[in-house]
Amino acid sequence: MAKTWYPVIDYVTCAECGTCVNFCSHGVYDKAKAPSPLVVQPENCIDHCHGCGGLCPHGAITYVGDDTGWVPPHGEKQDTITPCCCRGDQP
Ligand code: SF4
Ligand code: SF4
Repeated sequence: MAKTWYPVIDYVTCAECGTCVNFCSHGVYDKAKAPSPLVVQPENCIDHCHGCGGLCPHGAITYVGDDTGWVPPHGEKQDTITPCCCRGDQP
């Protein structure tokens, strides 16, 4: 469990697709609010997990405490280059 690692949603970029909410099985997001991503239990997030952020189709998720150099794989710049490749490239 991580008190210094949890997802932060960029609500400007987020399209409220619900992918992150549906993916996480640790109760970090409030599933009752799906498809809107609302982080309600940040302490349940798994240290160094990039699971939801790696799946976000809009690159809208980053992490508090992330000093790994990881960047969201589906951000605007990558959309035209690699449309759906990035599930396997997380550390
Ligand atoms: S980083 Fe992992 S544990 Fe944390 S909210 Fe996303 S999927 Fe859940
Ligand atoms: S996966 Fe990304 S776009 Fe979809 S709800 Fe989560 S943060 Fe928003």
